[in-house]
Amino acid sequence: MARYDLHAHSTHSDGLLTPAALVRRAAVRGVDVLALTDHDELSGLSEARAEAEASRLTLVAGTELSVTWRDITLHVLGLRIDADCPSLRDGLAKIRAGRADRARRIGASLADAGIPDAYEGALQFVTSERLISRTHFARFLVEAGHVREMRDVFRRYLVRGKPGHVDHRWAELAEAIDWIHAAGGQAVLAHPGRYKASPAALRELLAEFRDAGGDGIEVLSPSHTAAQVTDFACHARRLGLAASSGSDYHGPGESYVDLGDMPPLPCGVTPVWQDW
Ligand code: AMP
Ligand code: MN
Ligand code: MN
Ligand code: MN
Repeated sequence: MARYDLHAHSTHSDGLLTPAALVRRAAVRGVDVLALTDHDELSGLSEARAEAEASRLTLVAGTELSVTWRDITLHVLGLRIDADCPSLRDGLAKIRAGRADRARRIGASLADAGIPDAYEGALQFVTSERLISRTHFARFLVEAGHVREMRDVFRRYLVRGKPGHVDHRWAELAEAIDWIHAAGGQAVLAHPGRYKASPAALRELLAEFRDAGGDGIEVLSPSHTAAQVTDFACHARRLGLAASSGSDYHGPGESYVDLGDMPPLPCGVTPVWQDW
């Protein structure tokens, strides 16, 4: 059975490997089909595609869009998108444009909390001039000795209620799905178990996602417990949504689950790759 990994990041967003190195690592690890899904970005796809052509791996053109639903940040994967689609490209550019100002606000907020120069520090970790993320602040905070480990830094500094968190509005859910569809892709709600929503709100989100044309949910993610995998498989069946699987790999030393290291999808769900 082919091994799919439909969620991974490169240096074109907040991953540690270049697109070519990511593809090589996936191929060595036995991944048959890999999606490069950089945050709000398509610029790594040509390098990844060229590397994949030199191997037996199939590259899926993807991206992970930042969305605001109510007051929650969501991530929506676009899979098998046409990277030349103008409306998707414009939409992503609009999302990215908000990141620079947000990063300055994060820096100012950390400075108020006694951590100076965090914006400049985060910039040292940025690997694409087009994109700065909280991950770059996290790497700075660890390197500067404010936190010992990456796993603690978000909880202590970068989530709501902590000094490095600022409010920000990303794309609307419906427009993100529309951009993905305009590009001929499938819209998959990434790691739904990660969102801080009540069970009722989560059901409303899933229904709204489906009604807005969403195609699938990421049932298998390292963010999910075994119980959540079962739960989201049930939701997928109930709503007629497909199921996806992805490691959300960011790089050696930063991800517990390596490329392709996902169990098979639970029985009874329709894989998002069914008709590929
Ligand atoms: P941003 O899009 O700038 O808000 O950054 C989000 C990124 O931060 C995610 O894609 C993850 O790579 C990373 N991230 C968010 N929460 C955590 C966490 N609890 N632990 C590790 N990385 C996280
Ligand atoms: Mn990330
Ligand atoms: Mn994500
Ligand atoms: Mn991701």
